[in-house]
Amino acid sequence: MKFEIPSGAEHILQTLADAGYETYLVGGCVRDMLRGVEPHDWDICTSARPEETERCFDGQRIIETGLKHGTVTVLEDGEPYEITTYRTEGPYSDSRRPDYVEFVSSLEADLARRDFTMNAIAMGLDGSLRDPFGGAADIQAGLIRCVGEPAQRFREDGLRVMRALRFGAVFGYEIENQTAQAIHENRHMLEHVAAERINVELCKLLTGPNVGEILRQYPDVFCQFWPQLGPLVTLEQHNPWHCWGGWEHTIHTVEAAPPDLVLRLTMLLHDIGKPRCKSTDENGVDHFYGHPAVSAKLADQMLRELKFDNRTRERVVTLVEYHDVQIPCRDHFIRKWLGRLGPETFFQLLEVKRADGMGQAYELVKDRLAELEKMKAKTEEIVAQGQCFSMKDLAINGRDVIAAGVAPGPEVGRMLNGVLGQVLDGLVPNNREELLLLITDEQPNQSN
Ligand code: ATP
Ligand code: MG
Repeated sequence: MKFEIPSGAEHILQTLADAGYETYLVGGCVRDMLRGVEPHDWDICTSARPEETERCFDGQRIIETGLKHGTVTVLEDGEPYEITTYRTEGPYSDSRRPDYVEFVSSLEADLARRDFTMNAIAMGLDGSLRDPFGGAADIQAGLIRCVGEPAQRFREDGLRVMRALRFGAVFGYEIENQTAQAIHENRHMLEHVAAERINVELCKLLTGPNVGEILRQYPDVFCQFWPQLGPLVTLEQHNPWHCWGGWEHTIHTVEAAPPDLVLRLTMLLHDIGKPRCKSTDENGVDHFYGHPAVSAKLADQMLRELKFDNRTRERVVTLVEYHDVQIPCRDHFIRKWLGRLGPETFFQLLEVKRADGMGQAYELVKDRLAELEKMKAKTEEIVAQGQCFSMKDLAINGRDVIAAGVAPGPEVGRMLNGVLGQVLDGLVPNNREELLLLITDEQPNQSN
């Protein structure tokens, strides 16, 4: 095996085994080891009941938060390890959570409640596998397959629909046919899943390398929680700039964006308002006048519905709103936009514009893409040189304005803004003496 089991996990497995209980590593960590990827957490399952587990780790720090579901968390070298008693799940009458969990004595029964075969493999301390559902072979083949009857598994817990798509996007695995069909047929089960839980899976999915294929194959699932996507999925674009319809264009732009959540969300939503703005001229050419503003409004609503945090939502909405704005590749325009958006958002806007271009007819946009590269280089230079592009970069501040005779109050800000405008336009250098002269000149009433 490529990865060492951490000594903390080893110690826990050994302690439980010494006390006469069965115990295994299970779930994500075993799957990831078999994939050749370093696991990020190490879950342990055992035949010991929770109170028996606690007794084994008497005197050690224990967290009991998961006790109701049979989970005891033990801290080893400061790392938390979840130890869960073998259990099955009762019926899911609300399609959210099992009505109850039942402790069982067989590992097989515990593995059977798990979602996908790749997640239902256990590994003993000696490295031996318990794999009753053929998970290792599915990992080898790159297949996501439900444990048991797919439709039933998605009906028990709608979140599994999103988990399947997330694993598909992140691992680049195919979703096995029957599992795929059951996903389409049971996508409505997502109605019972809390927005916050869909959000978590969507964020992981969007930054996965195979996100494009998943968006392409499962638009119906995305429309289930974001019905606003529906008209974009079917949008045709008869326009020389576009060689694809709305959805395929969107997918190309998502794929072209770096794997950053804000950028990927921006690309997914940047044209969401297009269907509402569509008009066709006398030559049969489609236009989408005003779509960035409409898209920004819709994006804001969609991100609120799915409980995104304010910071992510506001950033995405800003980028959607400006994704189509024309910025000439000249220093003073760049400084103005840097001042308006701040460097971080402005660099993201350049990425958004590049990704948007990558989703269009290449021959027509290749000059625009080259121009964007130039603009990025210029921007880097402006930022590196510490050039002035916002009020706080000005060589004078509010105190100077007041000292020049302006009464404290809103006029001070207005004055500074005026000065900033002149600096951005390159009319005056950002030099203290020159700027002081400028503000005294503008104060004829105050001169003495
Ligand atoms: P990750 O790499 O994201 O942690 P994971 O598979 O470990 O992936 P967890 O949410 O940590 O995901 O869950 C641990 C294990 O619990 C899974 O491997 C799977 O066996 C089981 N599991 C998690 N969620 C579900 C679910 N909704 N239905 C059935 N089994 C689940
Ligand atoms: Mg995990």
